[in-house]
Amino acid sequence: MSILKSEIFDTYEMTIGVECHVQLATKTKLFSPADNDARDADPNSKVHPIDFGLPGMLPVLNRHAVDLAIRAGKALNAEIANISRFDRKHYFYPDLPKGYQTTQMYQPIILAGYVEAPLEDGSSVRVRVHHAHMEEDAGKLTHFGGYSLVDLNRAGTPLIEIVSEPDIHSAAEARAYATELHRLMTYAGVTHGDLYHGNMRFDVNVSVAKKGAAELGKRAEVKNLNSFRSVERAAEYEFRRQVELLESGERVVQETRGWSDDSGMTTSQRSKEDAQDYRYMPDADIPPIVLTDEEIAEIQADMPMLPGEFRDTLRGAGLDFAMTETALAITDAKVRDFLVEIAAATNGEVRRRILNWLVIDVQGKVSAGDDTWEGKQLLPDHIVQLAEMAEKNEISSNSAVTVLFEMLSSGDAPRMIAEAKNLLQVSDENAIGEIVDAVMAHEASAASIADIKAGKDKAIGYLVGQVMKQSQGKANPALAQKLIRERL
Ligand code: MN
Repeated sequence: MSILKSEIFDTYEMTIGVECHVQLATKTKLFSPADNDARDADPNSKVHPIDFGLPGMLPVLNRHAVDLAIRAGKALNAEIANISRFDRKHYFYPDLPKGYQTTQMYQPIILAGYVEAPLEDGSSVRVRVHHAHMEEDAGKLTHFGGYSLVDLNRAGTPLIEIVSEPDIHSAAEARAYATELHRLMTYAGVTHGDLYHGNMRFDVNVSVAKKGAAELGKRAEVKNLNSFRSVERAAEYEFRRQVELLESGERVVQETRGWSDDSGMTTSQRSKEDAQDYRYMPDADIPPIVLTDEEIAEIQADMPMLPGEFRDTLRGAGLDFAMTETALAITDAKVRDFLVEIAAATNGEVRRRILNWLVIDVQGKVSAGDDTWEGKQLLPDHIVQLAEMAEKNEISSNSAVTVLFEMLSSGDAPRMIAEAKNLLQVSDENAIGEIVDAVMAHEASAASIADIKAGKDKAIGYLVGQVMKQSQGKANPALAQKLIRERL
């Protein structure tokens, strides 16, 4: 697309701020008793007059949504406001029949915080969070040729909007931030985090300026990105688009833009409103949220392990970046706790083996959609026994993985499974000795034996391989090698 040389791009830097809407995992909506889970529901079947803002209706704040916001605050390293309140943000749009969105403009529930997002090179980017506020979602419009249909199932769904400071300076950092935010919110149990159904949506504000410039450039906001990859691609696209505009003497317009995954481009949607256009005013129908320090502490005391702690544990156990990232993708908190338990209770080769099994063999399959953690029997004693059997060469590495999967689904002891499947390696010197004798007597082995005697030690691999083959993989290879050497 570009006619500019890459050196010209190198003279610019982009600055990114991200606003993220997180759908809270409540049963009902923010102010009405309507069902909050409308994923497979018929249009307009999960609605209540409060969601329409019909005259005479009084909203009642969902306490569970407040509790989830308090948990989100902890995950964002942020203080929770003792007093927060709701405001009305007025605008006209067919998916908002009330004529205003109920949100928190002046006194948000979550104050300043930060997110530490890990990068591939082992470093991380710290993105400050300006604040996060509670608000309701609007409905959904589906556009057809000459008309549009309105579905209000989503109207009134509780959200928190997390507003970052402009601390991000590359597309990769933007992606890392979005990914870590998703982990934080799902680990904390704040949201189901289903990106496909829009449980988390990212608005990315991008501006560019010459490196070292005192002022930021005009920013364009790319709205409603619902994957980490599209956050990264949209930021990359905007950077190039804006640099090219500036280089050709044009200016960047402050506006809202949409992103298309198919075309890989952003397109202008509307010019950006300023705050005064919304005529914000306090919502007199909803009392302020008043929280004592004790109440906040009590809710936050009951938090599960967050990604930072999980990551530190895995790195401490020797996992590299890629493996740690794979492990972090485990969505089941019980499985993550199991990994932490194993990492603490074992060490050395046994620990390395078990973590490899769980992260690469099992989670690898789960990530690929070929398996699930659901129903897996996570018994520390059994998995440690299996790792010790493999360490002692009682079972081959390949057979151990077979036993592992069987063990995780049945809950049976590993030795029992290995015996039943006839996978235990033969460590009986006499039995293997007979096979070794037969292999060494065979004329095909003569060349290898001569090579070994001539000092080419690697040639022993052929003989061990033959012993393994003759024993159908059940000979203990270390023992086979020892017996061959004795006979040479
Ligand atoms: Mn919002």
